[in-house]
Amino acid sequence: LAKDRGKNNYQFYTAGLHGLSSRKMEMETGLRKALELNQFELYYQPQIELSTGYIIGIESLIRWNHPERGIISPCEFIPLAEETGLIVPIGNWVLKEACKQHRSWLSQGYWPMVMSVNISVRQFQDDDFVSSVKRILNETDMDPGYLELEITESIMQNFERSNLIIKDLNRLGVKIALDDFGTGYSSLSNLKHLPIDTIKIDKSFLDDMEDGSMVKTILDMGLNMEFHVIAEGIEQKEQVDFLLVHGCKVGQGYLFSEPISVDGMEGMLNKKVLV
Ligand code: C2E
Ligand code: MG
Ligand code: MG
Ligand code: MG
Repeated sequence: LAKDRGKNNYQFYTAGLHGLSSRKMEMETGLRKALELNQFELYYQPQIELSTGYIIGIESLIRWNHPERGIISPCEFIPLAEETGLIVPIGNWVLKEACKQHRSWLSQGYWPMVMSVNISVRQFQDDDFVSSVKRILNETDMDPGYLELEITESIMQNFERSNLIIKDLNRLGVKIALDDFGTGYSSLSNLKHLPIDTIKIDKSFLDDMEDGSMVKTILDMGLNMEFHVIAEGIEQKEQVDFLLVHGCKVGQGYLFSEPISVDGMEGMLNKKVLV
């Protein structure tokens, strides 16, 4: 067996099986090291109550502080982390870090906010996922009612299993949001039967605001199904006006703030109101 030939050969062999190029293999090694050396960092983007400008939630977004390359965006390494399975330990790190940060903000006296954490399908469907969430909630003393896990519509491809996992998560008391909503495969009847709390309208629909009909359609549907609806990628004041008129109460985007470091976020929390 390849694994009997020592660690390096084994890695080479499995990487070969995954069909990874040498650049990818280098990146995979880098990701493993990043975990060990604590090179990941969470940035935070506020979620705003559109009618008041209050911060009512915070989405955590991972960054890789690479010693040579500087800050690397998740778009560059999350796909490979998913492909190699490294997303499981990385995702656990993210979840724990976000819960610890939430706890810390509460004990510093900031008002309670929802903490949203992105979860990859592969991580979500890992056999240990629900027990990991439970363990991390215990370890960090996080109130599950303030944790929202963001999954994407790709979980629908495995509807029955995903439904069971979501039910288990509901039992733990955590909330579920469907991220990038409208870009995936949800059939309406499946959506109706999924015990989720929130849908996040994908930014691409907001980008086409001369014709707001898609945003309005998704919004109406979401509100009819009694989901919370969050609009992603708000960059203009006009988008806020449109969303408010059509019943969308919460949004996030560069208009309010880009994702920022812990320090930046605390500066913003001290100001309380953003618009
Ligand atoms: P997402 O969860 O849909 O996050 C929204 C992305 O849009 C973020 O990019 C955010 O910085 C960006 N964004 C927010 N507002 C605006 C805006 O007004 N205009 C524009 N142009 N962009 C905006 P980011 O941080 O690069 O993350 C990209 C994606 O990487 C995320 O999309 C999510 O799918 C994934 N990701 C990020 N962090 C994690 C993580 O901890 N775990 C997992 N599994 N995936 C993550
Ligand atoms: Mg998200
Ligand atoms: Mg999104
Ligand atoms: Mg996304």
